[in-house]
Amino acid sequence: MTDFPEGDAPRSNSEIASFHAHVYYDPATTRAEAERLRTWMGERFSVTLGRWHDVKVGPHDQAMYQVAFAREIFPELVPWLMLNHGRLSILIHPNTTNPRRDHLADPLWIGSPLAVHGDKLPEHAEMEQAPAPNTTPVLRP
Ligand code: ZN
Repeated sequence: MTDFPEGDAPRSNSEIASFHAHVYYDPATTRAEAERLRTWMGERFSVTLGRWHDVKVGPHDQAMYQVAFAREIFPELVPWLMLNHGRLSILIHPNTTNPRRDHLADPLWIGSPLAVHGDKLPEHAEMEQAPAPNTTPVLRP
């Protein structure tokens, strides 16, 4: 009856528990830029800044750190990242119950897209609410 793979009804935003931004960098050339962006984000946004991964981890094809944030933060943070990512590539993905689809089919990229290794991602997971923020913003974006 239909050629659309996802069925007849659109998916709802209520599927999205939170978002991640993965900020990729090259340890040899752009780590300082990634450090500056991290500092700037911490000064401006209520987010959870994750650990530095100077080597590839999980599905990611380059060194990176993760930024977890609530849905309400998206309309301020994502446009700001568009303006301030510099030479860095950033993957923004929703967190639903399907991490593989979140990373491969449904994300957006700021800067140059990189490879993401979907074979390292499950197709089913628990809803992941944004963790408690670990920043104390003092500046307006
Ligand atoms: Zn993620």
